[in-house]
Amino acid sequence: MNNPYRTHTAGELRAEDVGGRVKLAGWVNRRRDHGGLIFIDLRDRWGVTQITFHPERAAVFAQAEELRLEWSISVEGEVAKRPEGNENPELPTGEIEVSATALTVLNAAATPPFEIDRERPVDELLRLKYRYLDLRRPRMRENIIFRHRVVKHMRDYLSERDFVEIETPLLTASTPEGARDYLVPARLYPGQFYALPQSPQQFKQLLMVAGFERYFQIARALRDEDQRGDRQPEHTQLDLEMSYATQEEILDLIEGLYTGIVEDFTQKKLLATPFPRLTYREAMERFGTDKPDLRFGLEIRDVSEMARASQFKVFRGAVEAGGSVRGIAVESLGDLTRREIDELTSVAATGGARGLAYLKVAENSLTGPIAKFFSAEEGEALKKSLGAGHGDHMFFVADDDKVVFESLNKLRLHMRDRLGLANENVLALCWVTDFPLFEWNEDEGRVEPMHHMFTMPREEDIPLLDTDPLRIIGQLYDLVANGTELASGSIRIHRPELQQQVFSIVNIPPEEAERRFGAMLEAFRYGAPPHGGIAPGIDRLMMLLRDEPNIREVMAFPKTQGARDEMMDAPGPVTPEQLEELHVAVKLPTRKGPEQPPREDPSF
Ligand code: ASP
Repeated sequence: MNNPYRTHTAGELRAEDVGGRVKLAGWVNRRRDHGGLIFIDLRDRWGVTQITFHPERAAVFAQAEELRLEWSISVEGEVAKRPEGNENPELPTGEIEVSATALTVLNAAATPPFEIDRERPVDELLRLKYRYLDLRRPRMRENIIFRHRVVKHMRDYLSERDFVEIETPLLTASTPEGARDYLVPARLYPGQFYALPQSPQQFKQLLMVAGFERYFQIARALRDEDQRGDRQPEHTQLDLEMSYATQEEILDLIEGLYTGIVEDFTQKKLLATPFPRLTYREAMERFGTDKPDLRFGLEIRDVSEMARASQFKVFRGAVEAGGSVRGIAVESLGDLTRREIDELTSVAATGGARGLAYLKVAENSLTGPIAKFFSAEEGEALKKSLGAGHGDHMFFVADDDKVVFESLNKLRLHMRDRLGLANENVLALCWVTDFPLFEWNEDEGRVEPMHHMFTMPREEDIPLLDTDPLRIIGQLYDLVANGTELASGSIRIHRPELQQQVFSIVNIPPEEAERRFGAMLEAFRYGAPPHGGIAPGIDRLMMLLRDEPNIREVMAFPKTQGARDEMMDAPGPVTPEQLEELHVAVKLPTRKGPEQPPREDPSF
């Protein structure tokens, strides 16, 4: 009994321990006064144990009367069997209780701003402000401990395969991943800045040049993105890189890792192993997205050829303008009301569609406002092409491909949720490969890397760098689960001239490339080995494994959607002296623009 606070944890005592003298420490989780007895549920990280205070032990009983929720206490006593009928089969310690002989109050507690011992909904801003109390709640505690166990599994899995965990700097030069950098003013170099890494991309590649061959890191990636959707300014990746590895080997490695995680840590079923693989093109054509949810069908079909010949001007026009007409067939919608149709149209509009055409398959004909444009044979052909049967609805979008895909993707996901098509217990992990290396940024009128600019083109596409870069397929791969991207990776460029060429295609002239990526270009001149890697996001994986609705639920200290740390009250102003030292002058915006996230984000 060396520890002054406890001999056992609150999750540990069982019937075999009856008669033993023990000490437990933790928080007052609940208290009940019953027939002259005081009952305390004492909670620590490992569980809950019932403590009883008997009036015969007057001094300690009087102390116990003072106890309130969340007080931090240490209790000494004797393990007793609970009286017949009072056992709690829900609790691992439910057969016993500790009859207290001494009590030390280690610290009193103010009344908590929300209940710790119950999982009732609490305003999220309040939870984030008092995160240390929120983390005392079982669900959060379990999420965080679960996360630790999965990350440990990752470390073990990779260590067993000869990977070395290596830390890379936080204060460094910019590594672009398509977001804005967080910058840190360098006090010693007036007017100069470090950038926080958007990923350790350049460092991991340099570690391959350095000869480590197999690197990984549980790495923080900091990206100053607009906080739309479920994003966080900092997120964690399992960053890894291998030398002399093929794409196939990297996919195999990750597949083994994820299969193990799903099997060891969840009750969920994988849709298929080996994970299904789709090329980017196939994913777009069948699901309208490069993040397909394979748990359900409703696959998209191209009916452009039929549309081109049809009387329906909207269809024909879209195809003639270089776009397409594609559709999905949906069962079990019954008769849709005008309002329901409007609702579906607005779902499609979120993908850019200017309209949603539909037909219903009736006994011997098609019904719906556009049915009159199609002959019986055309109707049959549409049905056949979409695989539509009696009573089904067929929905079509006619526009340029981008809009058609995005709108039908939105519609597909809407149907999934509306009709409950996706089995929550299934994890449909799949690979999407063969992405274009570049894409065209309409707004800025320039070529952009699809993933990042260190990706190797397919060997046979290298000549296209000079002629038609937008047609190049990159050695790029994404891991996707249930419609969420879990990881992106690629085989990298390891030859300096090729890297230079890619820089110039994405509009980075040689001098700028030298300034921004000089170390890497130089390193490539020293016998850089072929290499490649991937960086699975850890937060999103945890969210999927735990069925949590957002990534804040699996992070110990997330920020709000407005990128604020409510608990630490950051960001915040600094003193004029600090600014002086940093040689920084602050120029406040004159009007409130989107750069200024609201202090309290109402969008929770
Ligand atoms: N650095 C990339 C990212 O963070 C992943 C990779 O290519 O390994 O998205």
